[in-house]
Amino acid sequence: MRKLAFGYSTRCNIRCEHCVAVEDRVDSRKMDHDRAKEIIVEMAQAGVGGISFSAGEPFLYFNDIAALVHLCRQIGIYTRMVTNSFWAKTAESSDRHVSELKTNGLCQLRLSYSRWHQKNVSRNNVLNAARSCQKIGLNYFVSFVTDFSKADDPYEQFLRDHGLLFFPEPLIYAGRAAAFDRRQILTDYQSNCCDMNPYLTPDLDMYACCDAGSHFPETQFFYLGNLNDHGMEQLFVKTETNRLHNLIRTMGITAIASFSGMKARDIITYSKCELCRKLFNSPETLTRLRADVSQLEAWQR
Ligand code: SF4
Ligand code: SF4
Repeated sequence: MRKLAFGYSTRCNIRCEHCVAVEDRVDSRKMDHDRAKEIIVEMAQAGVGGISFSAGEPFLYFNDIAALVHLCRQIGIYTRMVTNSFWAKTAESSDRHVSELKTNGLCQLRLSYSRWHQKNVSRNNVLNAARSCQKIGLNYFVSFVTDFSKADDPYEQFLRDHGLLFFPEPLIYAGRAAAFDRRQILTDYQSNCCDMNPYLTPDLDMYACCDAGSHFPETQFFYLGNLNDHGMEQLFVKTETNRLHNLIRTMGITAIASFSGMKARDIITYSKCELCRKLFNSPETLTRLRADVSQLEAWQR
């Protein structure tokens, strides 16, 4: 099933130091609402079965997004919203918002949480939002962004103390976090395959990756094109037939890194998106991988 991260607007009401969604500049682009509705219908025709409303803070355009969620439900598209929970200051406000989204057919709420988010939004907001979801019967989970340092222990403990459903997400060193000192981690020699859900920006540019990959400025490796010049189907097919994109999905980034000449000892110090950036945001490495793609496809045990 095709899925897509829908960037209705890049505007956000807070400014997290680690934000991947924007570079270090004020960025508040927004899609035209009627055009957004047309695109969603076009997506359904192209077989998109799931949309995640993300990018900036979607609750800043609450009525607009609620209407888009409603449209998705009418045409059979699964919907998720990603939020920093600023709107859940009180239990009443939280219940009201969650209830309205549930009525409009939202399928899941993803609550962003980290020691960076929580400098701007009280963690009690996240708790209120999760409690409203539990009460009203909306599926939710907390996305706990972490660099795996001890500083994150109290944040994780808070989630455990309140019995919230959460999943740790590695910090991505892109966007504003590109300026952070990268912490070397030691992972297992894992395959690092990636599903790569495409991302649509408010300017209708489409990327094959909805995370760090839409910020690979040296190569634009994941850029697919603009919806004003191409159809949705055409842009999906572009990534689905890209041989290197497919190897990221099936072979995984670790094997590609090894093929490219990286030492195993170095590979295990990178998280998935960092390794992806090292390979595919480097014009030299990318040129070599493109030239050797047939060998790479045959490089199997
Ligand atoms: S990480 Fe999310 S909440 Fe924080 S500034 Fe970026 S878009 Fe806003
Ligand atoms: S591994 Fe690469 S393709 Fe996958 S989310 Fe990270 S940057 Fe995007």
